[in-house]
Amino acid sequence: TQEQASVITIFGGSGDLARRKLYPALFQLYRHGILHDHFAVIGTARRPWTNEYYRDVIATSLEGEAGAVSDSVHAFASHFYYQSHDVTDADHYVTLRKLSAQLDDKYSAGGNRLFYMAMAPQFFGIIASHIRSEQLLSASGYNRLVIEKPFGHDFDSAKELNDSINSAFDEDQIYRIDHYLGKEMVQSLMAIRFGNPVFKPIWNRDYVDNVQITLAEAVGVEERAGYYETAGALRDMVQNHIMQLIAYVAMPEPESLTPAAVHQAKRSILESLKPLTTAQAADNFVRGQYVGDTPDQRDYVQEDGVAADSKTETFVAGRIELTDSAWTGVPFYVRTGKHMTRKSTQITVNFKPTEHNIFAPVGCPDLSGNSLTIFVEPEEGYRLVVNSKQLGQDYHVGQFPLNFRHTANEIANAPEAYEHLIQDALAGNQTNFTRWHELKATWQYVDKIREAWDASPDMPTYESGSMGPSASDDLLAKYGDSWSWDG
Ligand code: NAD
Repeated sequence: TQEQASVITIFGGSGDLARRKLYPALFQLYRHGILHDHFAVIGTARRPWTNEYYRDVIATSLEGEAGAVSDSVHAFASHFYYQSHDVTDADHYVTLRKLSAQLDDKYSAGGNRLFYMAMAPQFFGIIASHIRSEQLLSASGYNRLVIEKPFGHDFDSAKELNDSINSAFDEDQIYRIDHYLGKEMVQSLMAIRFGNPVFKPIWNRDYVDNVQITLAEAVGVEERAGYYETAGALRDMVQNHIMQLIAYVAMPEPESLTPAAVHQAKRSILESLKPLTTAQAADNFVRGQYVGDTPDQRDYVQEDGVAADSKTETFVAGRIELTDSAWTGVPFYVRTGKHMTRKSTQITVNFKPTEHNIFAPVGCPDLSGNSLTIFVEPEEGYRLVVNSKQLGQDYHVGQFPLNFRHTANEIANAPEAYEHLIQDALAGNQTNFTRWHELKATWQYVDKIREAWDASPDMPTYESGSMGPSASDDLLAKYGDSWSWDG
């Protein structure tokens, strides 16, 4: 743990993300000495707050955080400064530049600048161009941009956004957040795959029958309809989180753990997403919208801020193929949705059964393949299902799970995703951030699905509290498969 020096500017400092995720993460970094004396945080947003008021907001956001006792909260909050700011007003950036320089002097922050975009995405481009034109970039230290999702809403808008941030920042200064990459169990995928001789040689089409990824949410759209109506599950979850999980599950072993090597490995997989025609997209992807008849679980179209004739999907299931030679013919079944049975993210690798079954003559004609499930959240751990002899005189082979879960206490004491990611950004480590080529490949893939859906009025519904519309089960049944799920 080396102390990092930086002036951190948060655009959107009064927002929900800043309060729920960023301030607690920064506090934990402070607690662990990664931020200590040589840092300042400038919060900017529209409201005319004073520094004192802002520091109260910071303190309030830390309630319930580990280690948040009054002295340390007070000392931490004293590094925070508020600047009321309209992102479209060039003069405000001049004020910001002066304040950054002042705070850099005061805290000896080494001329380092971290800009964090945590506001509505339509402002990302304009902020970047003002950062450049009003010379907020420091000449003496590093300049880094951390940018939240969504990164565009299709390939064209993503490219436009990328071009506009490229006008101020080079690719090696850009840290695009996909907070799944900050999760412990996602970071663990490389260790599981490349650190274990029991898995490494069999992690390919010769031994893997199919891979499944479920990102189930229990909540509905809540207060986020304004955003969600413009996105839907495909853009909100598939293009980013699910595609990143596919990249980590399927990528070839990188030459090393350097960011460049890991990014190259991921890129090779995402660029091998087997292109879809519109007809194939319609056949291989299923959407759905939740319905319900209780006050907590009503129809999606009755939710506040949702159009009565909304065609926004709250569920997606799909069958994805890769052209990479290690994976040709292996389906990656993915699904995500709101108001599903329970909140859980699970990745299951279903292996093929053994080719030669000597147990068939003793009454076990169908030996199952092994399966490895990686529980990403809220449980964190593994389950490996193996074949073994059932107790008793007869030789019957049954399936037995080998289970491991981190304890609730261990999970609570491990860094949260945003803490991992902000620490990485401060240290200049881009491994766990997404690259432009990954976004390009995934948007191009997802745009085809969108195109197929936009051409059809069909919108299956599913009961809140279920695992999605029956069409999602039918999709797998067509190929003789069914969903793996630990409910
Ligand atoms: P929010 O609406 O709560 O906050 C937006 C912030 O931007 C506020 O501080 C507001 O004052 C400021 N702002 C808006 N217009 C402005 C203007 N013209 N000039 C200056 N400031 C302005 O939004 P949020 O939920 O905090 O989300 C912020 C970003 O983080 C978005 O890109 C969102 O997609 C992303 N994100 C949010 C979450 C979450 O859980 N809230 C999760 C993942 C990603």
